[in-house]
Amino acid sequence: MSALAKAIRQKRFDVKEGSPVQLILDTRTGTRLEFLVVNCSINGMGAVTETIANPEEEFEIGSIVPAAKMLVDNQEIVLGRLTVRYRIANYGEKHSYIGFATVDSKLPVDGVLSKFMVASKNGEINPYEFELSPDRFTVANFLEQQDSNVDLFARCRQFGVYFNEWKRTDKFNFNEVREPSTGARVQLKSLRRGGRSDYIQMTAYDYLNLGSHPKVIEAANDANRKYGYTSGGSPILCGTTELHEQLVEKLSGMLRKDVILFSSGYAANVGTIQCLTAGQDLIVADMLSHASIQDGIRTSPATARYFRHNNIAHLDKVLTENRPAAMGALVITEGVFSMDGDMGEIKGVVETAQRHNARVMVDEAHSFGLYGKNRNGISELANKLEHVDIYMSSLSKVCGAGGGFIAANRDVIQWLMSFGRSRLYSGSMPPSSAAAGIASLEILVSDRERVDKLFANVKHFVRGMRELGAPLAADHNSPIVPIVVGDEKNIGPICQFLKEAGVYVVPVGYPAVRKSQCRFRFSLMSEHSISDLDYVVATFEQAMKAAKFSFKRERED
Ligand code: PMP
Repeated sequence: MSALAKAIRQKRFDVKEGSPVQLILDTRTGTRLEFLVVNCSINGMGAVTETIANPEEEFEIGSIVPAAKMLVDNQEIVLGRLTVRYRIANYGEKHSYIGFATVDSKLPVDGVLSKFMVASKNGEINPYEFELSPDRFTVANFLEQQDSNVDLFARCRQFGVYFNEWKRTDKFNFNEVREPSTGARVQLKSLRRGGRSDYIQMTAYDYLNLGSHPKVIEAANDANRKYGYTSGGSPILCGTTELHEQLVEKLSGMLRKDVILFSSGYAANVGTIQCLTAGQDLIVADMLSHASIQDGIRTSPATARYFRHNNIAHLDKVLTENRPAAMGALVITEGVFSMDGDMGEIKGVVETAQRHNARVMVDEAHSFGLYGKNRNGISELANKLEHVDIYMSSLSKVCGAGGGFIAANRDVIQWLMSFGRSRLYSGSMPPSSAAAGIASLEILVSDRERVDKLFANVKHFVRGMRELGAPLAADHNSPIVPIVVGDEKNIGPICQFLKEAGVYVVPVGYPAVRKSQCRFRFSLMSEHSISDLDYVVATFEQAMKAAKFSFKRERED
């Protein structure tokens, strides 16, 4: 049984004070005892009685009480056997408190007993509620359950209870709804201090604000007028338009490789990894690889190994140990890591992979369009673009559009075209996304100022956060700036403070990152003004004070 299943208790409702709810039982030594019931769940009750001579002996934990009944308003309810779950001697004055679980019957918490119970918040007594405190559980617990022969939806029902509790806590900061607004200033549906709804956007991937560039919007509108919104189907059926073709040509010209489009970056990673690797192959990926890489690996029959983040010596060791027995081998890393904002060690990865006769795949979702002379990302910056066998990126980030792509040699692209299931069996990106992608690539290569402004912002913001003590590298050079606050307990109060003050940033917690590595992941944009960034840093400082958090203390803890 999983830890969660063991820990879940059916909700206990307190019995209203002075209610006529009694428990009567015969102990193992034959003494008849009367208890006053103080709380009840469908599976048991907590009851008190005047001090019993030898509670440890009479009510050993786990022992069985052979016959018990309840008296509720003079009505008798036969319960049968009970087991002793816990025991508190000296409960109040001269009382013992015993927790019992029923063996033979359920308690009518929503029936005869209900009028004596203290109702839950919405005034209902629901005997099938659970007690699932967000302080004790995380979403990961619900995925780990391994009970046998239960209703498939049981975990959803349990999670539903948890989710409702979780939503009420200050830790829940997801699913914000944006009202009509674009760029670095957004309007959200949630109101903040002073009834305001304007926020500084610190959480979007649209680093260069191309998503709201007039040329990009016009290109998408024009495509919608000419082609209609939908692509109409899979790219191999009717889902390829001239715009898709032009986008492929444009990307191909930039990267000097053949290119194939997918409906998203996620689909590009999953489909590519899955269809390129077979049962006897080996995949070795950086352990901080994005979920879409991990999902591709999971759906591939190849043997999977992970190397320590950016640790080339470890990659070498993993390949030395596993490469000889494998047929083909694929090493995967990223240009800029999505949770940490640091850069992949592309040079080391490429050279090590080559030494072991392995192919290299690099996910440049957060770096294509930003780095390198021709904006081809970290692979270009590291002078290894040519040696990256499979180049992956997304158009939903720097390009402010949507969709994903792979650039590789012609054979590989034709293979993906024929066998990439996430592409073959899925509608292609809408023509307007392709048009938006083309327009944004044109702006990207011609407008140097945006990138310069973005990196000036990065520098300024990193300096400000470092002055507060944030453990960031002085040369941190990506628009993803993770501010690690350690334990999840620090997330809620800081996040609420930021939100009230109009700073919109989404925290990242377990299981997306390690439990001790919970963080705020700030995403910078070229459109942020220096005063926006100063305001965010100053507000973060105030939030830390309000939450009694300091980076120094967190490191010492
Ligand atoms: N790779 C990385 C590193 C990412 O961060 C993401 C998206 N967060 C993806 C792939 C998936 O891209 P898309 O949003 O286009 O599906």
